[in-house]
Amino acid sequence: MPSPLDWIPDDLSHLREESLYREPRNVTALGDGRCEIDGRVLIDFGSNDYLNLATSDALKDAATVAIQKHGLGARASSLVSGRHPEYQTLCRRLTDFEHADDALLFPTGYMANVGTITALVGSEDSVFCDRLNHASLVDGCRLSKAKFRVYPHRDLTVLNRELEKASGVRRKLIVTDGVFSMDGDLAPLPELWEIAHSHNAMLLVDEAHATGVFGKNGRGSVEHFDLEDQPIIRVGTLSKAIGCLGGFVTGSQDLTDYLRNKAGTQVYSTGLPAVICAAASAAVQEISENPAQRKRLQSLSDLLRTVLSAQNIDYAPGSCGPIVPVILDDAEVAVSVSCKLQEAGFFVPAIRPPTVPAGTSRLRITVSTAHAEDDLRSLVSQLRGML
Ligand SMILES: *Cc1c(COP(=O)(O)O)cnc(C)c1O
Repeated sequence: MPSPLDWIPDDLSHLREESLYREPRNVTALGDGRCEIDGRVLIDFGSNDYLNLATSDALKDAATVAIQKHGLGARASSLVSGRHPEYQTLCRRLTDFEHADDALLFPTGYMANVGTITALVGSEDSVFCDRLNHASLVDGCRLSKAKFRVYPHRDLTVLNRELEKASGVRRKLIVTDGVFSMDGDLAPLPELWEIAHSHNAMLLVDEAHATGVFGKNGRGSVEHFDLEDQPIIRVGTLSKAIGCLGGFVTGSQDLTDYLRNKAGTQVYSTGLPAVICAAASAAVQEISENPAQRKRLQSLSDLLRTVLSAQNIDYAPGSCGPIVPVILDDAEVAVSVSCKLQEAGFFVPAIRPPTVPAGTSRLRITVSTAHAEDDLRSLVSQLRGML
């Protein structure tokens, strides 16, 4: 008998034919730059836990104390009864860390982007989005019902032209990754801010891959470019360098009060549990007190680029932090090299469309402070024989 779900197997075979089908992968993090996959220990170049905090004693200890005291779920939205003491502590810690007036928490970074964009603009407005922005920014733009304009990656001329065309609209919002998640390059924030300012447009920067990594104090790309005095909307995640789960926005009292009232993903979703908030607070403290880890991450990342160049392996040209992509174009090639690396003892994920544009499939090598210099050297020497 035909079923209305019959189109699904067709769609799946199409994905398989295009090398775009994704299999579940079961991974155990071992906490020392290694992970276990299918019973084998691999050097792990596939996590965003840049500072190796997710499995650290500092976070485990904070979480253990919190779970004993507060148990698990937050029991309700933070606006109803989900704002427990650890929630308040984390908000204060993020506020102090980012030198903001206040901070707002979301269940994930994805939801922070979607909730913030949909609260800031609507059908009378226009939103401008870099082509390589993260999917959560793109989804936020689409859901907002604002007129959606995509500009080529870092192309300020096109952005400027699109903003000029939109001169009559009620509100304008430019959204950008601070560090692009699949390319590892920085957004040209000083120029973006200047353009935004000259068109009276709002600028939202997603610091997901920059918090804890970029900026003198680890506050991200806005700090890196010395733009912290400007009214830029900064969205962050607790799930990457901070090693936990959740999203946040920091900013002025007006902005955070507004989003607390209007961002649906924060209003209509249960608050972050105490165990997560306590661990994230401990991570923010580690980041504040340990600039040496950030420096180590940067020098390991620079070393990886140097070793790749010495072997004539091209990496994405703008890569400047711990995300070092090796672009292989074809999805099938990227998957095959990733499999061979896995057989050789290295976990390096292949990234394919729709995560990246068609024809730009890649290996995304991610460096963490848990790596030894030799881990990087042996990865490159293996990789060299496979390309
Ligand atoms: C991972 C990521 C997010 C989403 O953050 P989560 O906390 O994992 O939901 C948002 N933006 C960018 C640029 C990301 O890389």
